[in-house]
Amino acid sequence: MTEIRLYNSRTRRKETFEPLDPANVRMYVCGPTVYDRAHLGNARPVVTFDVLFRLLRHVYGEGAVTYVRNFTDVDDKINAAAQARRAAGDPRSLEGLIRERTDETIGWYHDDMDALGALRPTREPRATEWIGAMIAMIEGLIAKGHAYAAEGHVLFRVRSYAAYGALSGRSVDDMIAGARVEVAPFKEDPMDFVLWKPSDDELPGWDSPWGRGRPGWHIECSAMAHELLGASFDIHGGGIDLQFPHHENEIAQSCCAHPEGGFARVWMHNEMLQVEGRKMSKSLGNFFTVRDLLDQGWPGEVIRFVMLQTHYRKPMDWTEAKAREAERTLMRWTRAMTSDGLLNKRLNKGHVIQEVIDAISDDLNLPLAITRLHAAFDSAKRDDDALADFRATTDFLGLTDRNILSAARKFADIGDLALDHAKSLLVAAREQAMKSKDFSEVDRIKSVLIDAGVEVRMTRLGVELQSKRDFDPSKLDGLT
Ligand SMILES: [Zn+2]
Repeated sequence: MTEIRLYNSRTRRKETFEPLDPANVRMYVCGPTVYDRAHLGNARPVVTFDVLFRLLRHVYGEGAVTYVRNFTDVDDKINAAAQARRAAGDPRSLEGLIRERTDETIGWYHDDMDALGALRPTREPRATEWIGAMIAMIEGLIAKGHAYAAEGHVLFRVRSYAAYGALSGRSVDDMIAGARVEVAPFKEDPMDFVLWKPSDDELPGWDSPWGRGRPGWHIECSAMAHELLGASFDIHGGGIDLQFPHHENEIAQSCCAHPEGGFARVWMHNEMLQVEGRKMSKSLGNFFTVRDLLDQGWPGEVIRFVMLQTHYRKPMDWTEAKAREAERTLMRWTRAMTSDGLLNKRLNKGHVIQEVIDAISDDLNLPLAITRLHAAFDSAKRDDDALADFRATTDFLGLTDRNILSAARKFADIGDLALDHAKSLLVAAREQAMKSKDFSEVDRIKSVLIDAGVEVRMTRLGVELQSKRDFDPSKLDGLT
């Protein structure tokens, strides 16, 4: 069996992955708060943990992996958006407005992440459907002395959990000195964080032993992970920005509520995303959503491929130059895979290339996997069996499995446009050469075409261009 090694943020080293139960490998990843379109940075953990999900399914079997990613559909930003709608005159109830907004946002999220080739997780719990489990967990924490109720709130007593801060390597006193902790009169200690808070009539709320209220964000993940994966499971993932305080708080809640379980064994964090070398922000004007990019005409496969090219533990820079380069590569690959009627025949019988699996198994070393994929393509161009394996591998990576035909069509259009343009140039050059008897321009265009993988036939009847399997339209860019 392929050995998987993963960098564990908790132990700060790469470890051989050994699932608690190989017949049910369990992974939890923190999902989105659903009040708006996902921005490009939100897509990075989705793509990262999608690759890990695919790898685990490949190694342990498709039915042997449970991947849970939640939707946070109770949150102050969601409430604020709904309240703004009401203030603007919308007559519907707050609950109705919130439900409409969260349903719509979940639909967008699915559309956008599907476009990036991400498989749907096994379970996608909505926080509002697990309020009972959250209340039960909070009651257990109070009973054990790890939490206390005060003025309609319930707070987690951070100093009751000695290991608090271990994941991010901080001491409680450092955190108080450095963090913007909310001081409130009902807190025993400024570090204590909210498990439950009261809701007035203008906010969504649920009945609880502490009055009508709503859960804090951190308890949502602890409760849903426990309900769906148990007190101990294999992998917990998310962006590095969630490591503190969100993940520290999840660990504190879960390990105090279920000390026998130990919660997640491996913690994985992806680094952040920048755009053209700068932090993405609305004020810098470089903030965009996944949908913005799709609407600009970037295929989801291209966005995904750009993301795969940077190791998940390194900051990633989105640039248009990278996207163009990724598009050229995918264009070349997809054309090779859809030419000669190969698509429906032998190409379905390939095996995922083991060298690529080996690279990904080493803490998701996708840059190395992609280098190996490029090398594999060089031999695949000449060999149908190798091309079938290549196709199986790009499918595995989520670069082609979803809609290779529509992608090929999209990419083929670009190639066809380039070919049409080249053809008109060649025809014009030939007419000119007939008069001048100087064929140097014809020869130049011909050699560019041949170099780009185009077969050129010139007869008395005209010019015929036929792209070959290794056609690279980007090589025609220089023809003007
Ligand atoms: Zn979480």
